[in-house]
Amino acid sequence: MIYNWRMKDTQLYQQILGLAKPWRVDSVTLKSAERTIEVEAQCDEQVWVCPECGQRAHLHGRERRRWRHLDSCQFKTILVADVPRVKCPEHGTVTVRVPWAEKHSRFTSLFERLAIDVMLECSISAAADLLRISWDEAYGIKQRAVQRGLSRKEPRIMKRLCIDEKSFGRRHDYATLVVNPEGEQSTVEFIGDGRQTATLDAFWQSLSEEQLKGIEAVSMDMWEPYLISTRKYVPDPDAKIVHDTFHLIRHLNEAVDQVRRLEHKALRAKGDERLVGSRQLWLYAMENMPDRWQDRFDDLREQKLKTSKAWAIKEFFRDLYGCRSIDEARQFFRGWYDWAIRCALAPIVRVAKMFKRHLERILTVFVHRLTNAASEGINNKLQSLIQKAYGYRNRERFKTDIFFHCGGLNLYPNLSQ
Ligand SMILES: [Zn+2]
Repeated sequence: MIYNWRMKDTQLYQQILGLAKPWRVDSVTLKSAERTIEVEAQCDEQVWVCPECGQRAHLHGRERRRWRHLDSCQFKTILVADVPRVKCPEHGTVTVRVPWAEKHSRFTSLFERLAIDVMLECSISAAADLLRISWDEAYGIKQRAVQRGLSRKEPRIMKRLCIDEKSFGRRHDYATLVVNPEGEQSTVEFIGDGRQTATLDAFWQSLSEEQLKGIEAVSMDMWEPYLISTRKYVPDPDAKIVHDTFHLIRHLNEAVDQVRRLEHKALRAKGDERLVGSRQLWLYAMENMPDRWQDRFDDLREQKLKTSKAWAIKEFFRDLYGCRSIDEARQFFRGWYDWAIRCALAPIVRVAKMFKRHLERILTVFVHRLTNAASEGINNKLQSLIQKAYGYRNRERFKTDIFFHCGGLNLYPNLSQ
């Protein structure tokens, strides 16, 4: 049976919506066919003022608008009102603000808050299904939440920062992220397109002189454009930049892998298949080797292979971080460097020379004890975001998601009632 039923008790919705004078609930209609409850609100204002400047204005017609509200008893609940428009001598015809929604939103603030909570837990598509709104509507709520959050952000001193590049899955398609690792949770402070000097310049330029002076340590890879940019803006940069462990080990791992590829090719030409399928084995840190590979790995290591030599040099480097002082570390590095240079494995020699060029900023880790591991939590989060979205073909969506989930922003619309 299809029916439209007008409820007599308007007080209930008046309370649910928290409407206060001059607004009141005029009628509540249950539309069974659409499984919808329509709540009509009425404005009884007598004296009109311009919402922009507060000057006296006079009523100039009304505009009918609808907002989706939180469901009641699984019925879609729609708030409807003829919103007064006033004419201000200065601002022309302006629609007055309603207390339950933000300016251009088609949802009440309470509904948006719910939608934000849902989207913090699941993908846009899943949230749209659950909330019975379209994908575009859900994404719109998310985008506005991020804009709201960013515009509320107060400039503050950030003592430590981690700079990292993030690949979008496609080669040569990078973004630069600046993460603040302090506080309860690390937060993404900046996302820029590419990984050039100008990319990072844009971040430093967004900071005040006081904020730049307040920076105590910045961790990053030995990437020339980042180095150039940071040196331009951060006072006393070479004492503050830390080339972090994570990136150093990654360079060494890449070198080990290059040595393996070359050696495997040469062995294979002689019918020797020893290194087949061994790529991953050499990339584990020693203590992380899975049990099932241990025997094969021990066996390979004992043979006089170039790859196992490269691997040993890589593993030994990690002991640098066990040193207790800069002096001890400097001495350790000297020994490691001599060994690495003498090994005559070109990829390893190349990395060792790079480390030496940047040594002073590698050793600053013993002053600041900062590495990009501080932003590892963020990296895991980003990885899962990328997986959930099946990669990001749309850069803006990627940025929105990062700020939404990792920006530490106050996303919610205010409730003005
Ligand atoms: Zn005005």
